[in-house]
Amino acid sequence: MTGKAKPKKHTAKEIAAKVDAATTNRGGGKAGLADRSGKEKGGHAKLECPHCKITAPDVKSMQIHHDSRHPKIPFEESRLVNLHAALAPETSKLRPGVRGSFKK
Ligand SMILES: [Zn+2]
Repeated sequence: MTGKAKPKKHTAKEIAAKVDAATTNRGGGKAGLADRSGKEKGGHAKLECPHCKITAPDVKSMQIHHDSRHPKIPFEESRLVNLHAALAPETSKLRPGVRGSFKK
């Protein structure tokens, strides 16, 4: 080559980044909200308090919650609602936050 071609302003990498930004769900909107609240899938909050329905990511956090909010009720790990177990078989569902659209 003779050096005639100037460097392109828009490289393939730049364009790919723009396409990614346009097609990827960044966590906004209804799908993102459901995702963040942990109600839609077993992604974030894993356990649900059987007494007040608050969610926690693990047993330790739930026990801290339980001790402070329900001190008169004995803490029983088996009574906690495991949201992951309940939703795990549903793998065909589109997971918000991973992809917002299949269009390119
Ligand atoms: Zn509770």
